[in-house]
Amino acid sequence: MNYDVINPANEEIVTSVELLEVEAVDEAISRSRKAFLSWREVSPGDRARLLRRFADAVDADLENLAQLEVRNAGHTIGNARWEAGNARDVIAYYSGAPERLIGQQIPVADGLNITIHEPLGVVGIIVPWNFPMPIAAWGFAPALAAGNTVVLKPAEYTPLTALRLAELALQAGIPEDVFQVLPGKGSVVGQRFVDHPGVAKIVFTGSTEVGRGVLAGAAAQLKPVTLELGGKSANIIFADADLEAAAAGAPYAVFDNAGQDCCARSRILVERSAFDRFMTLFESAVRGVVVGAPEDEKTEMGPLISAVQRDRVAGFVPEDAPIAFRGDAPQGAGFWFPPTVLTPSDPADRLLHEEIFGPVVTVVPFADEADAVRIANDSQFGLSGSIWTSNTGKAIRVSRGVEAGNLSVNSNSSVRYWTPFGGYKSSGLGRELGPDAPLAFTETKNIFISNR
Ligand code: NAP
Ligand code: MG
Repeated sequence: MNYDVINPANEEIVTSVELLEVEAVDEAISRSRKAFLSWREVSPGDRARLLRRFADAVDADLENLAQLEVRNAGHTIGNARWEAGNARDVIAYYSGAPERLIGQQIPVADGLNITIHEPLGVVGIIVPWNFPMPIAAWGFAPALAAGNTVVLKPAEYTPLTALRLAELALQAGIPEDVFQVLPGKGSVVGQRFVDHPGVAKIVFTGSTEVGRGVLAGAAAQLKPVTLELGGKSANIIFADADLEAAAAGAPYAVFDNAGQDCCARSRILVERSAFDRFMTLFESAVRGVVVGAPEDEKTEMGPLISAVQRDRVAGFVPEDAPIAFRGDAPQGAGFWFPPTVLTPSDPADRLLHEEIFGPVVTVVPFADEADAVRIANDSQFGLSGSIWTSNTGKAIRVSRGVEAGNLSVNSNSSVRYWTPFGGYKSSGLGRELGPDAPLAFTETKNIFISNR
């Protein structure tokens, strides 16, 4: 069966991709298991060198990868270049890992005790459509560095850059079958990764609902999982903050990638005494967001990924929705939706609790520090968030109080590949990125050597 890849900005068919069935997936897993036997034996220095060459191949292909993502996912060209560069940097960063997968020597009587980090085997990586290149690389780069082989399923909507990355890996000299990209349906290819006893670990990024099913399926085989799931992150703005900076940054903290970002600060919480002033500043910032053709260098926000996603998002904004103000979006072909700012008054409103995954943000007032933390934590999710204040003590207290894996103070940035990333509560399980990521793809073996 084939799948027509659609350009979300104009609804034209980009290309057609073959979707794999279970038999082909099983064959790929069996090739991957075979490749593992030799990949794990490649010396650390050689594995490092191959990964460095892979990073160089991505760098040389950066503009092509970015243009591919513009056509496939409707990402703005600026974002797409950043994403391809992120994949390159993540591969380069973990190319340092093979030679640094250091165990411990632990003092014992009558001999020597050492620990060794051994690879797991075949790692199955399941990727969503919102950041196809970075999310793929966050999984495959540390997994390969630790000596595992990888089978990766891209989202149906966005297979093109993952397929290109697999070509570049081969071109760089990574042996055949060490890194395979297998396009197909989640219910077929993704589910097979979960069910196949030859896949040693699953890395899943996507919705909380599907993630729960992956965890339940993996439990049957006690298969380890890393889950990166949804979010409903708070952007907490205190009256003593630099309000101009907070308001200028807030649109990009939620409308970037058309809001299809698990870290989107989709709930803005503003201290009541600063609410009106913030809204005035925020309105002009939202009206300034440039929405339009993704390939245009000036564009700041493109379309949503699909008609289905646009309709889902639109379902959150009915006629009588509490709209404060909106930005613009192109008319005509493409899955466009304007930046939309809502001010729901009922704390139980689903607008404040469900992940919308589109360019829609809520703004609510809070009374004081304790109230801000309480509202921020009134969520099943806990992925990221921001705290804007000029009071350092308050910044520390609120950062400690908010239940989320990635917080930033007087900033909205949450992803640096050399720092850990992941969620509390229903936002996930385990961490990606940072110095420890390769360890999540190993078993620790303890060996005692008698001196008798
Ligand atoms: P999704 O429906 O959960 O899909 C994610 C991936 O899982 C896709 O590749 C999908 O394949 C596959 N899949 C579907 N059913 C499966 C099954 N039964 N077994 C195994 N795999 C299966 O999510 P999405 O619609 O792509 O992405 C939107 C959601 O992902 C949002 O809720 C968002 O917050 C979340 N997300 C979280 C993060 C994070 O880092 N925390 C990052 C990105 C996205 P198909 O493409 O064939 O459906
Ligand atoms: Mg889905």
